[in-house]
This record gives sequence, C-alpha cells and structure tokens, in this order.
Amino acid sequence: MSDFQINAGTFYVVSTPIGNLGDITERAIAVLSQVDIVACEDTRHTQKLLSAFSIKTKTLSLHDHNERQRQEQVADLLSQGKSIALVSDAGTPLISDPGFHVVRYLREKDFPVVPVPGACAAITALSVSGLPTDRFTFEGFLPPKSGQRQSVLSQVKAETRTLVYYDAPRRAIDTVKDIVEVLGGERQVVMARELTKTFETVHSDTAENLLNWLSDDPNQLKGEMVLMIEGAKLVENSISPEAEKTLKLLLDELPPKKACAIAAEIHGLKKKALYDLALSMKDS
Ligand code: SAM
Repeated sequence: MSDFQINAGTFYVVSTPIGNLGDITERAIAVLSQVDIVACEDTRHTQKLLSAFSIKTKTLSLHDHNERQRQEQVADLLSQGKSIALVSDAGTPLISDPGFHVVRYLREKDFPVVPVPGACAAITALSVSGLPTDRFTFEGFLPPKSGQRQSVLSQVKAETRTLVYYDAPRRAIDTVKDIVEVLGGERQVVMARELTKTFETVHSDTAENLLNWLSDDPNQLKGEMVLMIEGAKLVENSISPEAEKTLKLLLDELPPKKACAIAAEIHGLKKKALYDLALSMKDS
C-alpha cells in the first residue's frame, strides 16, 4: 500500500472497524492519511480512531442534523481539488448512519465517489448466524416502542427471507417478547452481540427459548447487537392473494374445472389446491 495514491477532488466512503481496531483495512488507513479532510459523525470519536493509527488529517463534522447543509460545502471543496473521506462512528457509512444525502448529491453532480469497503455489523452477523444468507432483508433499527415494533413485525410475518435488524440489547427481552407474540415462539432467532469485541456472543435458538436465556443472564443485555430472524417457512402451493383474485374472476366466467386449470397455469400452482379453494368459496 506504500505506493497507494488518492485522487484529487474525490469523495471516499470509508468503512472502519465495528469494535476491533485490527479490522481496519490497509486501504482505509492509506486513504484516511492522505485525504485533506475526514468528514465524520463525531469528531472526538473519530479523532481517537485516527490517533490510534497516527493519522493527522483534520476532521469535519457531518451528521444527521447538518448533512444537507454540508453537502454544498463538500462539493465546493471537491471542486477546489480537495479530497475528502467520509467515515461513521463504526462500520460502513450510510448503513443506518449518515451519508446518504451527501452521496446522492455528489453523484448527481458527477463528483467521483469511491467506496473503501470494510466491516459492517449486519453482514458480519449474518456470516456467522447459520441462517439462510442466499436471500435476506436488512431492516435497519427496530422501533424502541413495543406497539410500533409489533406493527413492524406484523408487516414481515410472511417474509420468507432472513430478517436482519439493529437493536439495543437493553431492549432485547421486550423485543423478543414481541417476536414471540407476533411471529410465534417457534421462529429461529439469532442474537449477535458485541461482534469483534471481548464479549462477542452469537446465540441461536427459538424465540421462546431465547427469551428464557436472556431473562436468566443480564450480561446479555449490554453492548450492541444485531438480531436476525429466520424467514417464514414457504408453504408449498400456498395461494397468494393475487392467485385467489384471478380464480374468483375466472369462476365468474367459466366452469370451475376450466377456471382452476387457467389460474393454476398463470400462478404456477397445483390445480387441486385451487379446486379445493374454489369449493371452499362456494361453501362460504
Ligand atoms: N454503520 C454501521 C455498520 O456498518 O454496521 C452501523 C451503525 S448503527 C448506528 C449501530 C448499530 O449497529 C448498533 O446499534 C448495533 O445494532 C449494530 N452494531 C454496531 N457494532 C456492532 C457490534 N460490534 N456488534 C453487534 N452489533 C453492532
């Protein structure tokens, strides 16, 4: 990396460790050392990171409350040929962290925006969860209040992809109670806490058992965590609301056998399943 050279007038989006400083990349160190300015959420927090790597670059605050005001200033600096790196307090900027507005603004204005990848708590957690990772959905932070949390969870009840949430461990018992209530106690849940740090814990169990485990060990309610929930089981030949609507429309015009055959063809379902539904519609 000694011959690595940053480009003038470029905005670098730099990932930093989520706990273990050993996870910083060589390229992140090189970029943070060579840019003119490091834009960051909390200058004091980032100063500690920079000092740990003897980086003397000056910092500029860029957080949720001043991001839109800063975007023009950042664009002006880039136009003058300055290079800027964006970091957040931990992990990948923009992932439940500031930066989206400024990145969008700069891309619209055709400034070069370059990623310097590294740690991200959601991806780190998924990689050791043991839950399916071929398809997952990152849902950001769960709401802190139970009512809103239950409503968010009920919207994903039928979601078959693995669900990934950020949440505070101090709320873990209440959150898992809501999971039991809305998604059922049998759902597999994985709690990944304090990743890459001394008390790193990855615990996987049914929601019901996880609740008991958490209640028995107050230490599990400290630090930071990612909560992952197994997706809903795909019921073979389950009939979607769209398929049901198609069937109803066809039944108004055609004999049941024909209507079911066409609906089955359109939605890739078994004729028998649709025929049973057609019979139950007739009965109701
Ligand atoms: N941008 C970050 C990233 O790439 O992961 C996330 C920032 S978000 C404000 C902070 C949340 O990420 C925490 O509340 C927690 O849910 C999760 N998180 C961050 N570091 C973590 C760690 N070491 N272990 C578990 N979860 C972590």
